[in-house]
Formats: sequence, C-alpha cells, structure tokens
Amino acid sequence: MPAPSRTIFCQLLSQRSQFLGKPALSSPGVMWKRPLPLVQPTRRHTHLVGDRPIALITGVTGQDGGYLAALLLQKGYVVHGIARDLSRLDRSRFEHILDVDRRLHLHVCDIVDAVSLARLLDEIRPDEIYNLAAQTHIQTSFEDPARTTDVNATGAVRLLSALVKSDPGRRTRYYQASSSEMFGDANGHIQDESSHFHPMNPYAVSKLAAYEATVNFREAFGVHASNGILFNHESPWRGERFVTRKISLAVARRHFGDTALLKLGNLDTRRDWGHARDYVEGMWLMLQRDEPDDYVLATSEHHSVREFVEIAFGEIGRKLVWEGEGADEVGFDLESGDPLVAVDPTFFRPTDIGLTLGDASKARQLLGWECRTSFAQLVNEMVAADIRRFELAKASGANQPTI
Ligand code: NDP
Repeated sequence: MPAPSRTIFCQLLSQRSQFLGKPALSSPGVMWKRPLPLVQPTRRHTHLVGDRPIALITGVTGQDGGYLAALLLQKGYVVHGIARDLSRLDRSRFEHILDVDRRLHLHVCDIVDAVSLARLLDEIRPDEIYNLAAQTHIQTSFEDPARTTDVNATGAVRLLSALVKSDPGRRTRYYQASSSEMFGDANGHIQDESSHFHPMNPYAVSKLAAYEATVNFREAFGVHASNGILFNHESPWRGERFVTRKISLAVARRHFGDTALLKLGNLDTRRDWGHARDYVEGMWLMLQRDEPDDYVLATSEHHSVREFVEIAFGEIGRKLVWEGEGADEVGFDLESGDPLVAVDPTFFRPTDIGLTLGDASKARQLLGWECRTSFAQLVNEMVAADIRRFELAKASGANQPTI
C-alpha cells in the first residue's frame, strides 16, 4: 500500500493518543476473547499489507462498525475505518486485540463527499468494503428525509462509483448494509429474500434505493456487491436513542437510585431482535462467497417491547405489574408499588410497523451463518453493560457514564 499523503483530505490517525477523546470505560461490549483463525490470503487479496488482507469499513464508530472492526482485526485484517466524528469510537472495544495500533487506521471522512471517497479508495485499495455508514434513526428520517437519502442512498452510489473507477479489475468486494425496514408492514408474515418491499418511512426508502443500486452495480458493472438485509440487532453499543438501549440505560439508572419514569411508545410493537456480534459475522461470510448475492439475517423469533422491559427490570430484581390501557398504561413495581414505566404517545410514529419477522434459511444454508445469542442473553448483556458503565463512572467521580 502506498504511504498515505500528508495533504490528503482525510486525516489519518495513527497515534494512539489521538483516539483518546473520551475516558476509557473498560469494555462492556468486548466479546472476542477467543482468538480466531487468521484469514489465509488468496489470489483475490491483491493489495496485501505484508500478508494481511485490507478492509474498509464506513460507519466504524457505530454499533456494527465496532463489532465488525474487532472481528476483522481478530481475523488478521488491516482495517481502515471512516466516520465524521472519530471521537465517538471507544478504543476499549479493541484493547484485547494484538497490535491494534498498527492495523486499525481511522479517517475523518463524510460519505457525502465523492472526491474524498475516491481518493481514499485509491490510497487504501481495499480487498473488502463494508458500507455501514448511515443516518439510522427512523424518527430523524421523518424530520430530514433529504439528508437521510443523501447519506444512505446517494452515499452508497458515491462509494460504488468510486469503487468502479478505482478497481477496473473488479477485485474488491462490497457489502451494503440493507435493512428489514425495506419490507414495511408484512402483517405478521415472515420475510425472506424474495419478499415484496414496501418501505414505510424515509429511512427505509433510502435503504431500498441503496439496495437497488447495489444490485445494479453487481449486474451492470460486474462488482462483487452483496446486500445483507438485516433485521433489528442490538448490543451494549446500540445508540442511546434506540428503544432497547433506552430501556437498558433506564434500568441501570433505576438500579443506582434514579426514580425517573421510563417513557416508551407502543409496548406491543414486536421485533425480530438479534445480537450485533452475530450479525457482523454474517456480513463477513457474505463477502467470502465466490458469487455475490443478497441474504436476510434474522433470528426468526419475535418479542415485544413489553417483554424486553420485563426481562430488563427483572435483571435488577424488579417485577412489573401493568395497569391501564393504551396511552394510559403504567408498569408498577410489584413489591414497592412505584411506577417504573409509562406510555407516552409522543413516541408513537406516523407509520409504525407492528411486527417484524425474518427467515434467514438462505444464510444458514449457504453461508453456514448462525445466530448464537438468545433474546434473554441479549437483554441481560445490555443491562449488565450499562450497570457496569455507571459503576465505572461513579468510581471515577462522574455522575453519568459518557457513553
Ligand atoms: P449506527 O447508527 O450505530 O452507526 C452509523 C454509523 O454511520 C456511525 O458510525 C456514523 O458515524 C456513520 N455515519 C453517519 N452519517 C455519516 C456520514 N455522512 N458519513 C460517514 N459516516 C456517517 O448504526 P448501526 O451500527 O446500528 O448500523 C450499521 C448499518 O446497518 C447502518 O447502515 C444501518 O442502517 C444498517 N442496519 C442496522 C440495523 C440495526 O438493527 N442495527 C438493521 C438493519 C440495517 P458518525 O455519526 O460518527 O459520523
């Protein structure tokens, strides 16, 4: 790989101290303690650094980006990551990985900047690209549909266009982070790769456009480009605005004496919820196939927000009893009678999907993909991680954890 230019648009951060924008909070979500077998380079890995394949991850500071970076580093890759705000990346997620400072390279780069993307690809010459960068919050997509489309849909097209120009031999493999939101409301029917798309929010519309662009670059330009159509997946690194993390944080706060009510939208919304750690493995498996293709990743189980809340409070020894209906429903602590949870209609969405359910048979059969984490384990892990974050914050004299 050529040495990175000092004048380049992207800021290559290779010094450890430059990552340390936040206090390290140990590793509530670190999972890959077990060393994985290194990837053996093959003829398709054309731009090796030493004997290591090179990957580029957009959205590396996000939930999936961190898990994927850790997985690829464990497998021996040199990993480049881009995001707009690198201070959001918590280095403790990688502390257990050998020589991470030499193999993880971070670049400040916005996916709306086509020139920067093209220069970055010319410089890095990756074997694999994982396009995870996105405006991912559905409510925000209603507030700013144009920006959501620019980042999520046109961003993917910019990246694919840059890839086609920088890689005439079509050696680089491309993963597009597509979403089950593209299916819309399937009225309780299970969805697979052949199901009809009917996006119901601007986020889903933008994701469908990126999905179609990925298929088109595969068919019309010969790019090894695959879509992972992923159902919801959560973890201790889920953003705080998402319902599952909002619940685990509220439970951790309550554990430390906070009496604020947890306010939620529809408690009976049901989701096919998996663990991000399992899902990033599926992303990697897709790019190891000789032929590009599209795959659903899902657990094929669905659980309600109410179940999530009940298991989460159970982790701190609180059993909930529900009173009232609809917007007036309140969850009380069985023992003390304290109100713990209330419904707040301001969290209802203009077009909400009642239930999501996916069929990952194709991924299981062709990729050998497995979903290893149960729903209860997922909830337990999220609550335990947030409690640990509060403990660490308290130990360091802060009132609140910083992430
Ligand atoms: P996160 O919201 O946690 O992460 C999104 C990432 O995108 C962040 O690193 C963010 O970085 C980056 N990003 C946002 N805007 C830009 C931009 N303009 N330029 C460059 N980077 C940008 O999402 P997840 O990790 O949960 O999801 C990863 C991908 O998978 C997303 O594309 C998402 O739509 C998709 N997906 C996720 C599912 C889930 O349940 N988690 C389900 C299905 C699909 P920063 O803001 O710091 O720049």
